[in-house]
Amino acid sequence: MTTESNVKPQVNPQVNQAFSGGPFSSRLSEDFDPEWLLTPQQLALQKKLIALCAEVLRPNAIASDRNLIYPRENFEALASLGLLGLLVPTEWGGLGENHVCAAMVVETIARYGCPSTAMCYTMHLGAVAAALFRAHENPALQSILQRLDAEVAIGTLSYSDPETGSHFWYPISSRAEETDSGWQVFKRASWTTSAGFADWYIVQTTSPNFSGDYSDLSCFLIHADEVKAEPSKWDALGLRGNQSGSLLVDGAVIPKERMVGPIGDGVASNDEIVDPFFLLCSSACWNGISLGAIDIARKHVTRKKHVDVGMRVADYPTIQDYFGEAVIDTSACRMYTLSMGQLMDRLTNGCDWSIHADLSALPRSAYLHWYWQIKFAAAKNVAHVCDKMLHACGGSGFKKDMEIERYLRDGKAGWVMGPTNEILRQFVGKSALLGFESLDYWNQSVNERVLHNELKKMDDVEKRQLAEALLSEVETESSAPIKRPAMASA
Ligand SMILES: Cc1cc2nc3c(=O)[nH]c(=O)nc-3n(C[C@H](O)[C@H](O)[C@H](O)COP(=O)(O)OP(=O)(O)OC[C@H]3O[C@@H](n4cnc5c(N)ncnc54)[C@H](O)[C@@H]3O)c2cc1C
Repeated sequence: MTTESNVKPQVNPQVNQAFSGGPFSSRLSEDFDPEWLLTPQQLALQKKLIALCAEVLRPNAIASDRNLIYPRENFEALASLGLLGLLVPTEWGGLGENHVCAAMVVETIARYGCPSTAMCYTMHLGAVAAALFRAHENPALQSILQRLDAEVAIGTLSYSDPETGSHFWYPISSRAEETDSGWQVFKRASWTTSAGFADWYIVQTTSPNFSGDYSDLSCFLIHADEVKAEPSKWDALGLRGNQSGSLLVDGAVIPKERMVGPIGDGVASNDEIVDPFFLLCSSACWNGISLGAIDIARKHVTRKKHVDVGMRVADYPTIQDYFGEAVIDTSACRMYTLSMGQLMDRLTNGCDWSIHADLSALPRSAYLHWYWQIKFAAAKNVAHVCDKMLHACGGSGFKKDMEIERYLRDGKAGWVMGPTNEILRQFVGKSALLGFESLDYWNQSVNERVLHNELKKMDDVEKRQLAEALLSEVETESSAPIKRPAMASA
């Protein structure tokens, strides 16, 4: 991690071009950027990244959206700055950066470059973090982590299950078996960003020793040639370069070292890494999209004139109010997100992965309810901001060439991506009222209030019939073998 405060950012000529007269010359002033949260090295990295966005990522974003093109070329550009290994320790050839920097990079890509790339990159960082978490004694993970930029080795997370929708922590259609030399993995996923385009996948299944408890989960490293994807079926409202199609791992036989962490490590990995990183970085993505929409709209409203009244659109108080509210709400979401990044840095000595050599070190996990809140706020805000920025641009905003309609469509993914905003609002409200134990992720605790309320509606005959049916169900179940998750290919 870089912390010196006396190093001046390097000025890249392309950066000057990007800000003066270039594509971002009319953006919201940098006075509104909380640059005090970044180190000089991070500010310098951001400037280089903005220049790369102007030159490569943004032009590609348009083609990606129109023609459903996976943004591999943008990943190649990101690799030229070492960004695929952003979180990888310097001794393994990475940039050794921290959580705040990860949020900054995702926000910058979404704002100035390509939101689809920002989301694919979010999933890449999630996979990298899941691998770093358990890489200490694992040569397979160490090997991939040291080749990320040199080979443009894109990673992703495959969790969501077709049977359980956005309850991505419940992989009911997936399973793994122990073999003599390793594992056989069956994974069926309904959605996976970069499916069929990524080079490596972290997938979650029930554990090899599964005994009916769906909270017993394990993670595996799966290579590109072990998955089947159907990218031709991907076509969506927004994030069209994201290619979040279905994925099948149909009994891949893999060596022992490709289990990520010990058997049953899935919940620890979710709470400590996958949720915190996904929620931090995806929030940054939604904030970047909000800022991108503000930038585009600012350019339009400060140039468009109405000759009859001699005013620019930006001179109308109504439009100023739109911008005031959009900037204030987006700044709140940015500060909220970056503050969680700072907390994560503080908890981990600046994202020092060596703390996880102790498998029980799970400092990020205690703040899950905070990560839920930043994602809810950022995903709610992006839809509102993009909507109002389009209104501020009038009919011109409705046309494709201004790009704001693309930002609006891309931002819409925020609310529906798991954990969806309905679920997050429920989690936060329920835990605030009834405590965290009431959340019952794996449907294990009985709600006796509901049960008794329903029973009250029955007469004695109906109660007797129910009791008999239940008794016979118990008899059948106690003599049956343990129910296994369905085969992935079933
Ligand atoms: C662009 C994009 C990229 C994605 N990338 C990935 C990826 O890389 N990896 C991955 O694993 N998944 C990914 N997903 C999947 C995502 O995380 C969700 O699993 C998916 O969006 C859920 O869709 P669904 O149709 O199954 O929704 P459903 O789960 O069927 O939801 C339907 C509705 O029910 C609501 N709902 C569901 N449960 C509850 C509840 N308990 N309380 C209240 N309301 C509830 C939902 O909020 C929603 O309004 C991606 C999704 C998108 C859109």
